Amino acid sequence: MQQDRHFTNAALLTRRHAAVARGVGQAHELFIHKARNAELWDVEGRRFIDFAGGIAVLNTGHLHAGVIAAVKAQLDLYTHTCFQVVAYEPYVEVCERLNTLAPGAFAKKSLLLTTGAEAVENAIKIARAYTKRPGVIAFTGGYHGRTNLTLGLTGKVAPYKIGFGPFPGEMYHALFPNALHGVSVEQALHSVELIFKNDIEPERVAAFIVEPVQGEGGFYVAPPEFISGLKALADRYGILLIADEVQTGAGRTGTWFACEQWPVAPDLITTAKSLAGGFPLSGVVGRADVIDAPAAGGLGGTYAGSPVACAAALAVIDAFEQENLLARSQDMGALLVSALKATAAKVPAIGDVRGLGAMVAIELFENGDVHRPDAALTKKVVAEAARRGLILLSCGTYGNVIRILVPLTASDELLHEGLAILADSFAAVG
Ligand code: PMP
Repeated sequence: MQQDRHFTNAALLTRRHAAVARGVGQAHELFIHKARNAELWDVEGRRFIDFAGGIAVLNTGHLHAGVIAAVKAQLDLYTHTCFQVVAYEPYVEVCERLNTLAPGAFAKKSLLLTTGAEAVENAIKIARAYTKRPGVIAFTGGYHGRTNLTLGLTGKVAPYKIGFGPFPGEMYHALFPNALHGVSVEQALHSVELIFKNDIEPERVAAFIVEPVQGEGGFYVAPPEFISGLKALADRYGILLIADEVQTGAGRTGTWFACEQWPVAPDLITTAKSLAGGFPLSGVVGRADVIDAPAAGGLGGTYAGSPVACAAALAVIDAFEQENLLARSQDMGALLVSALKATAAKVPAIGDVRGLGAMVAIELFENGDVHRPDAALTKKVVAEAARRGLILLSCGTYGNVIRILVPLTASDELLHEGLAILADSFAAVG
């Protein structure tokens, strides 16, 4: 792509940014000028391969032609009415599509909102209204958003929760299974039983909320036996199972929802991020009888289910069908895992390569010792890769995981180019 305009430099913008904007913690000192598919160019005209995908928002890539066309068409009709004032078709259509995409042999309904955290908040409100119970059990290392309620659910403390309490009550954290770090499925399920024994009776628990693959927590996949065990407890005590698919949804893991790969269907699913290809849209989809429980008018929000974002979402769902992106997600995952394993064979620090579909990560340790997470090396590799033209993002409780959320529309050639930069970055930082 031809670079038409270099209007400033990054160092100057970084100084301006620090002086006037309350930064929220940028991963890179980098200012974008424009982007296409899985590449972007900064204000100095430098090209980058985007392996971060806007944190799982760009499964269909930057400026997907179908998404942009749908948004432009919607802009000629109307941009906002608030669904509670005057209803509109794209909202209804997105709900219809989500209801069809979600697993479970039961009648479904959807509610649309704006952000992932709002979807989680509303799923909890719905679960409480349906069960008439207060308690929620989430998991260690889990992440559910930055609002006060969702921070209460978030298991990962630093930096999200520091200084922001008190958080809402009746929220508990059980262990998330993690074979690599020594937490078995049995121990995790036992920790739920301990919460029932010590903290809250199961008859007062409304829901379990779990990520099919922990996102911010480090890309750990929930084992199927863990989900079956949770579901057995949920059925025994009348507790709802909520899958937080804000990061895993919209085709990232090889199925539209990652929980399609679970042995059981959850009662509610939250979705956001790639759903509308970069436009703010989130939703809760699940059992119609559960979603209907709150009083009319009790759910929603001024911008909830924006028609522009709904138009984008319909185009994203179409793109998945037309471009076979679920199969691509599976192939891409296999390609990434095998390439990263080849790199790991040469780099002792890479102690694990894992993922589900195209949600793939590597975890770094000092000399590969799983008891010594290496956040410092992770930082160095991410910075070196950026210098070499690859945008990466770290995550994990110890900051020692590098995650890959590259657009599913990226070519194999681009993936190999990015993977080579990653391998070279390891070699460069030693
Ligand atoms: N849940 C999960 C699993 C997430 O990964 C995120 C965002 N990283 C959220 C909720 C919150 O989404 P948002 O930032 O759109 O509020």
